[in-house]
Amino acid sequence: MTSTLSRSVLVTGASKGIGKGIARVFSSKGDRVAVLGRDLSAVESTVAEIRAAGGIALACAGDVTSKASMAAVVEAVVGEWGSLDVLCANAGIFPSASLETMTGDDWDTVLNTNLKGTFISVQAALPALKQSAAGRIVVTSSITGPVTGYPGWSHYGASKAGQLGFIRTAAIELARYGITINAVMPGNILTEGLDGMGDDYLAQMSASIPLKRLGSVDDIAHAACYFASVEAGYVTGQTLIIDGGQILPE
Ligand code: NDP
Repeated sequence: MTSTLSRSVLVTGASKGIGKGIARVFSSKGDRVAVLGRDLSAVESTVAEIRAAGGIALACAGDVTSKASMAAVVEAVVGEWGSLDVLCANAGIFPSASLETMTGDDWDTVLNTNLKGTFISVQAALPALKQSAAGRIVVTSSITGPVTGYPGWSHYGASKAGQLGFIRTAAIELARYGITINAVMPGNILTEGLDGMGDDYLAQMSASIPLKRLGSVDDIAHAACYFASVEAGYVTGQTLIIDGGQILPE
């Protein structure tokens, strides 16, 4: 069982894609959700959807690469609801660049958003999470990097593998506060990012996965809900691959 109390949850990168699904599913379980992205109108649109479904949501324009921005967002959430209990550090980018042509700026942009952005988000949330009876952090990593590779994504893979190194030590440091930190590792998830890829391409991708479909944002959101649940209080520094069996050997 993965029941939650009515808690305050901050989801980064929640204006669309997996983060939006995470925010929606936490809300459906009775949590208050703060929806964060850089584009306020996109964030407000997600918040409107959650409110229309009866949920309690707060729009937060913020940038995970900025310590000041994330501190202000956490202050706003605590100011609104009095607490922050769960951080889902999900924001991420995945531009493609081959190793031969990749610039230092390309590398820095991806590492700053995906890896340093995770550190900044966690550090900004910590003072509030320490006040929670059951502080929880769930990081969105990937199978790409920690388990597999993909051409054009050496920077992305490094950032996603780096997140796992980060949570293993963070788990030890945060245990004294009763805060857990774990990571979900999605495979190929059907998001707006795949719009326009064409039915043939999507069918081909699905066929290569043992469960014969792409993952849904809800598949990832339910795993995040488990790690964030009160019942998962003895699970920390761990990872869960959600990929339909994609990485299993033939
Ligand atoms: P999307 O591109 O659909 O959404 C990314 C979200 O992150 C948006 O809300 C975007 O909003 C936000 N974001 C990007 N940069 C920043 C920033 N600097 N500060 C704050 N928010 C930011 O991506 P997905 O939903 O597909 O991916 C979400 C996470 O899941 C990523 O970490 C990704 O690596 C991971 N993942 C995705 C997989 C997939 O198949 N989709 C597979 C494996 C992992 P805005 O641009 O307005 O700021």
